[in-house]
Amino acid sequence: MIIVAKKSIKDLKDTEIKGKKILVRVDFNVPLDAKQNITSDKRIQAALPTIEYLIKKGGRIILVSHLGRPKGEKKPELSLAPVAKRLGELLKKEVKMLPDCVGDQVKAEVDKMKDGDVVLLENVRFHKEETKNDPEFAKKLATLAELFVSDAFGTVHRAHASTVGVAAYLPAVSGFLIQKELDIMGKALSDPARPFVAIIGGAKISSKIGVLKNLLDKVDTLIIAGGMAYTFFKARGIEVGKSLVEDDQIPEAKEILKKAIDVGVPILLPIDHVVADKFAEDANVQVVPRTTIDAGWLGVDIGPDTVAKFKNAIMKAKTIIWNGPMGVFEMDKFAKGTIEIAKIVAAATEKGAISIIGGGDSAAAIKKAGLTNKMTHISTGGGASLEFMEGKELPGIACLQDK
Ligand code: AMP
Repeated sequence: MIIVAKKSIKDLKDTEIKGKKILVRVDFNVPLDAKQNITSDKRIQAALPTIEYLIKKGGRIILVSHLGRPKGEKKPELSLAPVAKRLGELLKKEVKMLPDCVGDQVKAEVDKMKDGDVVLLENVRFHKEETKNDPEFAKKLATLAELFVSDAFGTVHRAHASTVGVAAYLPAVSGFLIQKELDIMGKALSDPARPFVAIIGGAKISSKIGVLKNLLDKVDTLIIAGGMAYTFFKARGIEVGKSLVEDDQIPEAKEILKKAIDVGVPILLPIDHVVADKFAEDANVQVVPRTTIDAGWLGVDIGPDTVAKFKNAIMKAKTIIWNGPMGVFEMDKFAKGTIEIAKIVAAATEKGAISIIGGGDSAAAIKKAGLTNKMTHISTGGGASLEFMEGKELPGIACLQDK
């Protein structure tokens, strides 16, 4: 059982499995190269605990996932066939790839399954009804099975046929990946070990306003950096040159700065910057040891004094949430601040803090620094983890059965 807000959700351990046909929504949206080779099987690995448990308990496992954005069209280059092959290697058993996810042929194949068998349905987004959460399509998917297990944390913030729609027709429970994500993040938000420090970076302030507001009620210190920090500087009347600013978000930034004062939570912003004269790797670059940025320059990374200031707060933390890079980390020249913060979060984790990383960019930066295994938890869902931290109801969780 998992407790999310006031809802307690039924999970696999509460459910009879033997002999049942079980539709399992997994997130097999893996990165592929031009030859359809899987370049990271992290998402397949993340689904293994649920799949292995269901095999052991004698379920008949029907896996369903999307891959990429085929937009309702059958695109051979977005077939899940390479995933079936890789999953078979990991499970050391046959994973039969089916030609579609609904229809008579699929139904006939499913009816032939024996206890412990695993099949993978073809990319559910080959049907445009999936993302529209079409009830008829959801019903067709649901008729394949007797139980629905939701384990695709990366898509629980989307109300699609295979994440939400099917739950209207089948008993619906959560798998172990969702359970783990919600347990770790739920605990951090409801009963964190303190001090609790959130580090929010990245470019798009508009997508993170809700998170910042919600976190202000929970954290002891809020660190804001990356491109979105400049909107906060502008809100304070500080010159930021040609740095990224979302002008329409200035009122929201002001409101957050005011709320921080009201609730007595310090917001830490950068105190120095790495600036460039253009948004390119071959730009002229300098470190400015102050908050203001001259005309003609844009902030692309945090400076060394900022790293030291953030370090001071992070090393005292017992709970750390990190979402979004400190600078334009995709360009090596501007990756230093983000890499340094990754090292500091790893060091704090070693000292006993719980570190939770949300968002693909932060996870990529941590991977770049070779620190993936040093963090407590790297969420498998960027958007979903943000919405969870925002305190929003996730439709793919809300549709699951109460215990
Ligand atoms: P987001 O999707 O909002 O988490 O933003 C991630 C993106 O923010 C990454 O692609 C970074 O390159 C970008 N970013 C971080 N810092 C800056 C900055 N100072 N100026 C422009 N973009 C930035």
